[in-house]
Amino acid sequence: MNTTENHRKVNHQPDASQTRLQNVPTNTMPFPDQIGNYQRNIGLPDGKFKDSKVYIVGSGIAGLSSAYYFIRDGQIPAGNITFLEQLNIEGGSLDGSGNAETGYIIRGGREMDFTYENFWDMFQDIPALELPKPYSVLDEYRIVNDNDRNHSKARLIHNKGEVKDFSKFGLSKKDQLAVMKLLLAKKENLDDLTIEDWFSETFLESNFWWFWRTMFAFENWQSLLELKLYFHRFLHAIDGLNDLSSLVFPKYNQYDTFVVPLRKHLQELGVKIQFETVVKDLDIEITGDKKIVRNIITEQNGSEVNIALRENDFVIVTTGSMTEDTRYGDNVTAPLVDFTKENSGKSKGWTVWNNLAKKSKVFGKPEKFNSDVSKSAWMSATLTCKPSAFVEKLKEYSVNDPYSGKTVTGGIISITDSNWVMSFTCNRQPHFPNQPDDVLVIWVYALLMDEKGNYVQKTMPECTGNEILAELAYHLGIENQLDNIIQNTIVKTSYMPYITSMFLPRAKGDRPQVVPDGCVNLGLVGQFVETNNDVVFTMESSVRTARIAVYELLDSNKQVPDINPLQYDIRHLLKAANTLNDGKGFPGSGILNKVLKNTYFEHILPEISHDEHDGFFAQQWDKLKGLFEHKQEGE
Ligand SMILES: Cc1cc2nc3c(=O)[nH]c(=O)nc-3n(C[C@H](O)[C@H](O)[C@H](O)COP(=O)(O)OP(=O)(O)OC[C@H]3O[C@@H](n4cnc5c(N)ncnc54)[C@H](O)[C@@H]3O)c2cc1C
Repeated sequence: MNTTENHRKVNHQPDASQTRLQNVPTNTMPFPDQIGNYQRNIGLPDGKFKDSKVYIVGSGIAGLSSAYYFIRDGQIPAGNITFLEQLNIEGGSLDGSGNAETGYIIRGGREMDFTYENFWDMFQDIPALELPKPYSVLDEYRIVNDNDRNHSKARLIHNKGEVKDFSKFGLSKKDQLAVMKLLLAKKENLDDLTIEDWFSETFLESNFWWFWRTMFAFENWQSLLELKLYFHRFLHAIDGLNDLSSLVFPKYNQYDTFVVPLRKHLQELGVKIQFETVVKDLDIEITGDKKIVRNIITEQNGSEVNIALRENDFVIVTTGSMTEDTRYGDNVTAPLVDFTKENSGKSKGWTVWNNLAKKSKVFGKPEKFNSDVSKSAWMSATLTCKPSAFVEKLKEYSVNDPYSGKTVTGGIISITDSNWVMSFTCNRQPHFPNQPDDVLVIWVYALLMDEKGNYVQKTMPECTGNEILAELAYHLGIENQLDNIIQNTIVKTSYMPYITSMFLPRAKGDRPQVVPDGCVNLGLVGQFVETNNDVVFTMESSVRTARIAVYELLDSNKQVPDINPLQYDIRHLLKAANTLNDGKGFPGSGILNKVLKNTYFEHILPEISHDEHDGFFAQQWDKLKGLFEHKQEGE
């Protein structure tokens, strides 16, 4: 690699939002957000890093994909790579475990879309979980989703289980304008602002906001900047927001679908995983601006063990985890919730980042994210269900028979009159490879769990699993069959104190760069690092940070394309404007329709339900066209 004379000039994470597209003789790289096969090149090896050792702190998807990119694009021998993981299992937040007898557990499910560019870049190379060679995880994923398109027929419910009309966003003109203004706003002007600072009460109560906040797990006091990034990132998906037809889902839970094949592939190549190893700190030599990690300070079996680094060795650190310090409960036990302002952000998984931040401001401000659990926590519950009154009710909301192996609820069903803002989903079953035929695994979560329930007069964290079932049954209008439901449902609850900590209001510099200024052998990856335009709370963004870290540290002659450019596609922009107005057109749609009708570009216009915008401009266009036609006839 690094064989071209230009390589030192490579911007490894180009920012499309700051770049005018042009062809100039000095640039050898594709456009900043050009996605595609041209990016799949492998550079010539220069042997520079063949003896480098790589230590990766954290075996979540960010860590695992770092190893993949060190091997694929850095050509570092897999045997030189070691994971240091505090837990005794790999995968981090991508979990999935248990069995039908004692109950399965998934702390979350994974909504995904076609534009997980880095994620698919990697998974097209990872051998499939179940299909034989040469199928990849991507191939397997496509076979499932191409044959079973996701959608929902009961996205919102209320009034004890009644399906609510979810066909409309219901945004006033003023609220649509507020969305447009946010899209137009400069990112640097949004530091530390919250969503409720920007949007009106009516917006926050609209169907649109119900769809958005429950699907992506935003709370009103969280970062406006992050919401803006989300609007750009998923602009193309907006017309599939209400019925969730913009989503694709894995076949099984995320651990079995993604982590197992990736970990297996890496281990077969020779990568080592060292469990129960907490990294506490890094010993960094700072000379002027230059920062070199000399030692990794770990805790193993209660003792401190240092790992010395040589020239040319590298360290990748996952700076924190959204599932750090998860507390669990079951049918009869509520999770132990003992978080205070004093102990927030002090658990082992936060230590490295907390310690790094003390060394230099280039490492950001972890306290902006981990010091107030009350603003970042929520809870989920996994239900392992035998046939019951609950399963019968579920069938009413399902697009296919829950036992058919096809899409069931097609994503979350949100209960709009639930004090907890409760949602639940039944993904394709079986959700675990070993799941018996008569069992369904269902996921429940609540955004505002600190309110008292509508039926159970407790906050969600105060509740046992059975009490959560009671609250759910009440909202479905089947509380009179609660005994039958409890008898047939195993509940595992997870209280995740930092689950939306990445969404908390932030300003420039709060999150460190992937390779912070001056660092020569340290890369930071995961959900708490800066990227130009990508969003948090996705697997894709964790993989992106890993790829950036590898390219920057190795000064590779490759770049990580910016997010998929669909947001700049006029078709998606027009469609989004129309969808925000519930299909009734947008200012200028009448005239555009007249200008483009019967032309090559006619298809770029979205379908508009009626011409209510045939106003002044359209009338003027008609007059102009009339004059033009009149002139032609006269000639
Ligand atoms: C409930 C839930 C729902 C989600 N929904 C979606 C979704 O719909 N779509 C989507 O794309 N994404 C979703 N995500 C997000 C996605 O799962 C995460 O973004 C991604 O898995 C994060 O990966 P990571 O490797 O960055 O961090 P993690 O997976 O959190 O991994 C961090 C790892 O580092 C280890 N670690 C941390 N510090 C140390 C230390 N000091 N020493 C040793 N080990 C350490 C941790 O133990 C952990 O294993 C969801 C996540 C959750 C929890």
